[in-house]
Amino acid sequence: MGFPNLNGETKLCGLFGFPVEHSLSPAMHNAAFQSSELNWAYLPFAVHPDHLAKAVQGIHPLNLAGVNITVPHKQRIIPLLDEIEPTAAKIGAVNTIVNCGGKLVGYNTDGAGFIRSLAEEADFRPQGKTVLMIGAGGAARAVAFTLALSGCKAIYFTNRTTETARELAKEIALNCGTNTEVLPWGLKMPKETVTGVDLVVQTTSLGMWPNWQAAPEFPFAAVHSGQLICDLIYTPRQTSFLQQAAVQGATVLNGMGMLLYQGVLAFELWTGQSAPIEIMKEALARQLVTEGKS
Ligand code: NAP
Repeated sequence: MGFPNLNGETKLCGLFGFPVEHSLSPAMHNAAFQSSELNWAYLPFAVHPDHLAKAVQGIHPLNLAGVNITVPHKQRIIPLLDEIEPTAAKIGAVNTIVNCGGKLVGYNTDGAGFIRSLAEEADFRPQGKTVLMIGAGGAARAVAFTLALSGCKAIYFTNRTTETARELAKEIALNCGTNTEVLPWGLKMPKETVTGVDLVVQTTSLGMWPNWQAAPEFPFAAVHSGQLICDLIYTPRQTSFLQQAAVQGATVLNGMGMLLYQGVLAFELWTGQSAPIEIMKEALARQLVTEGKS
Protein backbone atom coordinates (compact mmCIF):
# COMPACT_ATOMS: atom_id res chain seq x y z
CA MET A 1 0.00 0.00 0.00
CA GLY A 2 1.59 3.30 -1.07
CA PHE A 3 1.01 6.72 0.45
CA PRO A 4 0.40 8.96 -2.59
CA ASN A 5 -0.76 11.95 -0.54
CA LEU A 6 1.86 12.15 2.20
CA ASN A 7 2.64 15.81 2.86
CA GLY A 8 3.01 18.31 5.69
CA GLU A 9 -0.68 18.09 6.53
CA THR A 10 -0.84 14.30 6.83
CA LYS A 11 -2.20 13.17 10.19
CA LEU A 12 -0.37 10.19 11.64
CA CYS A 13 -1.61 7.22 13.63
CA GLY A 14 0.37 4.16 14.56
CA LEU A 15 0.83 0.94 16.44
CA PHE A 16 3.12 0.49 19.46
CA GLY A 17 4.03 -3.15 20.03
CA PHE A 18 7.01 -5.50 20.17
CA PRO A 19 7.15 -7.12 17.69
CA VAL A 20 4.91 -5.40 15.08
CA GLU A 21 6.24 -6.92 11.86
CA HIS A 22 3.26 -9.23 11.27
CA SER A 23 0.49 -6.83 12.26
CA LEU A 24 -2.41 -6.55 9.78
CA SER A 25 -3.47 -3.15 11.19
CA PRO A 26 -1.34 -0.93 8.89
CA ALA A 27 -2.91 -2.50 5.78
CA MET A 28 -6.42 -2.23 7.26
CA HIS A 29 -6.18 1.39 8.46
CA ASN A 30 -4.27 2.77 5.46
CA ALA A 31 -6.88 1.24 3.12
CA ALA A 32 -9.60 2.85 5.26
CA PHE A 33 -7.94 6.30 5.21
CA GLN A 34 -7.44 6.19 1.44
CA SER A 35 -10.97 5.04 0.74
CA SER A 36 -12.37 7.77 3.04
CA GLU A 37 -10.17 10.35 1.24
CA LEU A 38 -8.52 11.26 4.52
CA ASN A 39 -4.97 12.59 4.42
CA TRP A 40 -3.99 10.22 7.23
CA ALA A 41 -1.41 7.43 7.49
CA TYR A 42 -0.82 4.55 9.92
CA LEU A 43 2.66 3.30 10.79
CA PRO A 44 3.88 0.36 12.89
CA PHE A 45 6.42 1.30 15.61
CA ALA A 46 8.48 -1.49 17.19
CA VAL A 47 8.64 -0.06 20.72
CA HIS A 48 10.85 -2.08 23.07
CA PRO A 49 9.31 -2.43 26.56
CA ASP A 50 12.23 -0.39 28.00
CA HIS A 51 11.24 2.55 25.74
CA LEU A 52 7.47 2.50 26.24
CA ALA A 53 7.32 5.54 28.54
CA LYS A 54 9.48 7.63 26.19
CA ALA A 55 7.40 6.56 23.17
CA VAL A 56 4.18 7.59 24.96
CA GLN A 57 5.72 10.94 25.90
CA GLY A 58 6.40 11.44 22.18
CA ILE A 59 2.78 10.99 21.04
CA HIS A 60 1.74 14.60 21.55
CA PRO A 61 5.01 16.36 20.55
CA LEU A 62 5.04 14.32 17.32
CA ASN A 63 1.37 15.20 16.69
CA LEU A 64 0.23 11.59 16.44
CA ALA A 65 -3.58 11.64 16.34
CA GLY A 66 -3.89 8.20 17.87
CA VAL A 67 -2.10 4.96 18.54
CA ASN A 68 -3.04 1.30 18.80
CA ILE A 69 -1.32 -0.65 21.54
CA THR A 70 -0.53 -4.33 21.23
CA VAL A 71 1.43 -7.08 22.98
CA PRO A 72 3.28 -6.65 25.36
CA HIS A 73 2.19 -3.11 26.31
CA LYS A 74 -1.60 -3.28 26.81
CA GLN A 75 -1.45 -3.32 30.62
CA ARG A 76 1.76 -1.39 31.23
CA ILE A 77 0.51 1.57 29.19
CA ILE A 78 -2.26 2.42 31.69
CA PRO A 79 -0.30 4.46 34.27
CA LEU A 80 1.31 6.41 31.41
CA LEU A 81 -2.00 7.86 30.15
CA ASP A 82 -4.03 10.89 31.34
CA GLU A 83 -7.45 9.25 31.31
CA ILE A 84 -8.82 5.72 30.91
CA GLU A 85 -12.32 5.10 29.57
CA PRO A 86 -14.30 3.21 32.28
CA THR A 87 -14.62 -0.16 30.44
CA ALA A 88 -10.89 -0.17 29.61
CA ALA A 89 -10.19 0.66 33.27
CA LYS A 90 -12.26 -2.35 34.40
CA ILE A 91 -10.55 -4.63 31.87
CA GLY A 92 -7.18 -3.25 32.95
CA ALA A 93 -5.89 -3.06 29.37
CA VAL A 94 -5.79 -0.41 26.63
CA ASN A 95 -5.46 -1.10 22.90
CA THR A 96 -6.32 2.36 21.53
CA ILE A 97 -5.12 5.83 22.55
CA VAL A 98 -6.69 9.06 21.33
CA ASN A 99 -4.60 12.24 21.50
CA CYS A 100 -7.19 14.83 22.54
CA GLY A 101 -5.11 18.02 22.17
CA GLY A 102 -2.34 16.62 24.35
CA LYS A 103 -4.57 14.66 26.75
CA LEU A 104 -3.95 10.95 26.08
CA VAL A 105 -7.15 8.93 26.59
CA GLY A 106 -7.04 5.11 26.64
CA TYR A 107 -9.79 2.82 25.31
CA ASN A 108 -10.19 -0.91 24.85
CA THR A 109 -11.87 -1.73 21.52
CA ASP A 110 -10.92 -5.46 21.63
CA GLY A 111 -13.89 -6.52 23.76
CA ALA A 112 -16.32 -4.15 22.05
CA GLY A 113 -14.99 -5.33 18.67
CA PHE A 114 -15.76 -8.92 19.65
CA ILE A 115 -19.33 -8.02 20.76
CA ARG A 116 -19.87 -6.10 17.51
CA SER A 117 -18.66 -9.09 15.46
CA LEU A 118 -21.15 -11.34 17.30
CA ALA A 119 -23.97 -8.97 16.34
CA GLU A 120 -22.87 -8.31 12.74
CA GLU A 121 -21.74 -11.81 11.78
CA ALA A 122 -23.88 -14.15 13.90
CA ASP A 123 -26.85 -11.95 14.93
CA PHE A 124 -26.00 -12.79 18.56
CA ARG A 125 -26.67 -10.39 21.47
CA PRO A 126 -25.10 -11.21 24.88
CA GLN A 127 -27.93 -9.87 27.07
CA GLY A 128 -29.29 -12.69 29.29
CA LYS A 129 -27.02 -15.31 27.69
CA THR A 130 -24.77 -17.92 29.34
CA VAL A 131 -21.17 -18.12 28.15
CA LEU A 132 -18.23 -20.52 28.50
CA MET A 133 -14.77 -18.96 28.17
CA ILE A 134 -11.85 -21.30 27.37
CA GLY A 135 -8.61 -19.57 28.41
CA ALA A 136 -8.02 -16.68 30.77
CA GLY A 137 -5.26 -14.58 29.18
CA GLY A 138 -5.33 -10.98 27.97
CA ALA A 139 -7.83 -11.48 25.13
CA ALA A 140 -10.14 -13.56 27.36
CA ARG A 141 -10.06 -10.74 29.92
CA ALA A 142 -11.17 -8.08 27.42
CA VAL A 143 -13.88 -10.31 25.94
CA ALA A 144 -15.22 -11.59 29.28
CA PHE A 145 -15.40 -8.15 30.92
CA THR A 146 -17.18 -6.70 27.89
CA LEU A 147 -19.62 -9.64 27.74
CA ALA A 148 -20.33 -9.21 31.47
CA LEU A 149 -20.84 -5.45 31.09
CA SER A 150 -23.15 -6.14 28.12
CA GLY A 151 -25.53 -8.09 30.37
CA CYS A 152 -24.58 -11.78 30.18
CA LYS A 153 -26.46 -13.86 32.74
CA ALA A 154 -23.52 -16.11 33.69
CA ILE A 155 -19.96 -16.80 32.58
CA TYR A 156 -18.11 -20.10 33.10
CA PHE A 157 -14.31 -20.08 32.90
CA THR A 158 -11.84 -22.86 32.26
CA ASN A 159 -8.08 -22.53 31.81
CA ARG A 160 -5.00 -24.75 31.81
CA THR A 161 -3.80 -22.76 34.82
CA THR A 162 -6.88 -22.89 37.02
CA GLU A 163 -5.71 -20.15 39.36
CA THR A 164 -5.74 -17.56 36.54
CA ALA A 165 -9.32 -18.52 35.65
CA ARG A 166 -10.28 -18.25 39.33
CA GLU A 167 -8.84 -14.74 39.61
CA LEU A 168 -10.57 -13.54 36.43
CA ALA A 169 -13.91 -15.08 37.47
CA LYS A 170 -13.67 -13.40 40.88
CA GLU A 171 -12.80 -10.00 39.41
CA ILE A 172 -15.69 -10.13 36.97
CA ALA A 173 -18.17 -11.17 39.66
CA LEU A 174 -16.97 -8.32 41.91
CA ASN A 175 -16.80 -5.58 39.27
CA CYS A 176 -19.75 -6.48 37.04
CA GLY A 177 -22.10 -8.40 39.37
CA THR A 178 -22.20 -11.31 36.87
CA ASN A 179 -22.52 -14.91 38.09
CA THR A 180 -19.25 -16.71 37.41
CA GLU A 181 -17.97 -20.23 37.99
CA VAL A 182 -14.71 -22.04 37.24
CA LEU A 183 -14.87 -25.44 35.53
CA PRO A 184 -12.20 -28.16 35.39
CA TRP A 185 -9.91 -28.01 32.33
CA GLY A 186 -10.33 -30.29 29.31
CA LEU A 187 -12.37 -33.48 29.23
CA LYS A 188 -13.16 -33.23 32.96
CA MET A 189 -15.52 -30.34 32.16
CA PRO A 190 -19.16 -31.30 32.99
CA LYS A 191 -20.88 -32.11 29.66
CA GLU A 192 -24.28 -30.86 30.83
CA THR A 193 -22.78 -27.43 31.53
CA VAL A 194 -21.28 -27.32 28.02
CA THR A 195 -24.64 -28.30 26.52
CA GLY A 196 -26.43 -25.59 28.52
CA VAL A 197 -24.41 -22.54 27.39
CA ASP A 198 -25.42 -20.26 24.51
CA LEU A 199 -21.91 -19.20 23.54
CA VAL A 200 -18.43 -20.78 23.80
CA VAL A 201 -15.38 -18.55 23.26
CA GLN A 202 -12.03 -20.32 22.63
CA THR A 203 -9.39 -17.75 23.61
CA THR A 204 -6.22 -19.83 24.02
CA SER A 205 -3.47 -19.62 21.41
CA LEU A 206 -3.83 -23.38 20.73
CA GLY A 207 -4.45 -23.95 17.01
CA MET A 208 -2.88 -20.72 15.80
CA TRP A 209 -0.89 -20.80 12.55
CA PRO A 210 1.50 -22.60 12.02
CA ASN A 211 0.35 -25.04 14.79
CA TRP A 212 -3.06 -25.37 13.16
CA GLN A 213 -3.57 -29.01 14.20
CA ALA A 214 -3.62 -28.17 17.94
CA ALA A 215 -6.84 -27.57 19.89
CA PRO A 216 -7.75 -27.59 23.56
CA GLU A 217 -9.31 -30.87 24.72
CA PHE A 218 -13.05 -30.32 24.92
CA PRO A 219 -16.17 -32.52 25.20
CA PHE A 220 -17.32 -31.80 21.63
CA ALA A 221 -20.08 -34.43 21.84
CA ALA A 222 -21.91 -32.04 24.21
CA VAL A 223 -22.01 -29.27 21.54
CA HIS A 224 -25.22 -28.83 19.52
CA SER A 225 -26.81 -26.81 16.74
CA GLY A 226 -28.38 -24.23 19.07
CA GLN A 227 -24.97 -22.84 20.08
CA LEU A 228 -22.53 -20.26 18.78
CA ILE A 229 -18.90 -21.39 19.05
CA CYS A 230 -16.18 -18.76 18.55
CA ASP A 231 -12.44 -18.95 18.28
CA LEU A 232 -10.45 -15.71 18.60
CA ILE A 233 -7.85 -17.14 16.21
CA TYR A 234 -8.18 -16.01 12.57
CA THR A 235 -5.16 -17.81 11.03
CA PRO A 236 -6.20 -20.42 10.01
CA ARG A 237 -9.72 -19.25 9.21
CA GLN A 238 -11.19 -22.42 10.67
CA THR A 239 -9.20 -23.88 13.55
CA SER A 240 -9.36 -27.54 14.47
CA PHE A 241 -11.52 -26.40 17.44
CA LEU A 242 -14.08 -24.75 15.12
CA GLN A 243 -14.03 -27.70 12.72
CA GLN A 244 -14.94 -30.10 15.53
CA ALA A 245 -17.72 -27.78 16.73
CA ALA A 246 -19.09 -27.39 13.19
CA VAL A 247 -19.33 -31.20 12.86
CA GLN A 248 -21.79 -31.08 15.80
CA GLY A 249 -23.94 -28.60 13.85
CA ALA A 250 -23.03 -25.49 15.87
CA THR A 251 -22.72 -22.06 14.26
CA VAL A 252 -19.01 -21.16 14.23
CA LEU A 253 -17.21 -17.82 14.07
CA ASN A 254 -13.48 -17.08 13.87
CA GLY A 255 -11.55 -14.09 15.25
CA MET A 256 -11.46 -12.10 12.00
CA GLY A 257 -14.55 -10.10 12.97
CA MET A 258 -13.02 -9.15 16.32
CA LEU A 259 -9.85 -7.94 14.56
CA LEU A 260 -11.91 -6.01 12.01
CA TYR A 261 -14.29 -4.33 14.46
CA GLN A 262 -11.63 -3.37 17.01
CA GLY A 263 -10.05 -1.52 14.07
CA VAL A 264 -13.38 -0.05 12.96
CA LEU A 265 -13.98 1.32 16.48
CA ALA A 266 -10.43 2.75 16.69
CA PHE A 267 -10.85 4.42 13.26
CA GLU A 268 -14.10 6.01 14.44
CA LEU A 269 -12.55 7.22 17.72
CA TRP A 270 -9.63 8.85 15.86
CA THR A 271 -11.43 10.38 12.89
CA GLY A 272 -14.97 10.93 14.18
CA GLN A 273 -16.20 9.38 10.90
CA SER A 274 -17.92 6.10 10.08
CA ALA A 275 -15.39 3.49 9.05
CA PRO A 276 -15.47 1.90 5.55
CA ILE A 277 -16.04 -1.60 6.92
CA GLU A 278 -16.05 -3.53 3.63
CA ILE A 279 -12.79 -1.85 2.52
CA MET A 280 -11.16 -2.75 5.84
CA LYS A 281 -12.40 -6.34 5.59
CA GLU A 282 -11.01 -6.68 2.05
CA ALA A 283 -7.66 -5.18 3.12
CA LEU A 284 -7.35 -7.74 5.92
CA ALA A 285 -8.17 -10.61 3.56
CA ARG A 286 -5.64 -9.31 0.98
CA GLN A 287 -2.91 -8.96 3.60
CA LEU A 288 -3.47 -12.52 4.83
CA VAL A 289 -3.08 -13.82 1.26
CA THR A 290 0.10 -11.70 0.84
CA GLU A 291 1.54 -13.21 4.01
CA GLY A 292 0.59 -16.72 2.85
CA LYS A 293 -1.68 -17.29 5.87
CA SER A 294 -5.00 -17.57 4.09
P1 NAP B 1 -2.18 -14.67 26.45
O1 NAP B 1 -2.53 -13.52 27.31
O2 NAP B 1 -0.76 -15.10 26.37
O3 NAP B 1 -3.09 -15.92 26.94
C1 NAP B 1 -2.89 -17.19 26.37
C2 NAP B 1 -3.97 -18.15 26.84
O4 NAP B 1 -3.77 -19.37 26.13
C3 NAP B 1 -3.92 -18.48 28.32
O5 NAP B 1 -5.21 -18.78 28.78
C4 NAP B 1 -3.02 -19.73 28.32
O6 NAP B 1 -3.23 -20.56 29.46
C5 NAP B 1 -3.54 -20.44 27.09
N1 NAP B 1 -2.56 -21.36 26.53
C6 NAP B 1 -1.40 -21.05 25.89
N2 NAP B 1 -0.76 -22.18 25.53
C7 NAP B 1 -1.52 -23.22 25.95
C8 NAP B 1 -1.40 -24.65 25.88
N3 NAP B 1 -0.35 -25.22 25.28
N4 NAP B 1 -2.39 -25.40 26.41
C9 NAP B 1 -3.46 -24.81 27.01
N5 NAP B 1 -3.64 -23.47 27.10
C10 NAP B 1 -2.67 -22.70 26.59
O7 NAP B 1 -2.61 -14.43 24.93
P2 NAP B 1 -3.85 -13.53 24.42
O8 NAP B 1 -3.36 -12.18 24.08
O9 NAP B 1 -4.97 -13.69 25.37
O10 NAP B 1 -4.18 -14.24 23.00
C11 NAP B 1 -4.82 -15.49 22.97
C12 NAP B 1 -5.29 -15.81 21.55
O11 NAP B 1 -6.25 -14.85 21.15
C13 NAP B 1 -4.19 -15.80 20.51
O12 NAP B 1 -4.41 -16.86 19.62
C14 NAP B 1 -4.39 -14.49 19.79
O13 NAP B 1 -3.96 -14.52 18.44
C15 NAP B 1 -5.90 -14.34 19.86
N6 NAP B 1 -6.33 -12.92 19.78
C16 NAP B 1 -7.16 -12.58 18.76
C17 NAP B 1 -7.58 -11.27 18.63
C18 NAP B 1 -8.49 -10.89 17.49
O14 NAP B 1 -8.62 -9.69 17.22
N7 NAP B 1 -9.14 -11.83 16.88
C19 NAP B 1 -7.16 -10.32 19.57
C20 NAP B 1 -6.32 -10.71 20.60
C21 NAP B 1 -5.91 -12.03 20.70
P3 NAP B 1 -2.31 -20.42 30.77
O15 NAP B 1 -2.93 -19.31 31.59
O16 NAP B 1 -2.40 -21.74 31.41
O17 NAP B 1 -0.92 -20.08 30.31
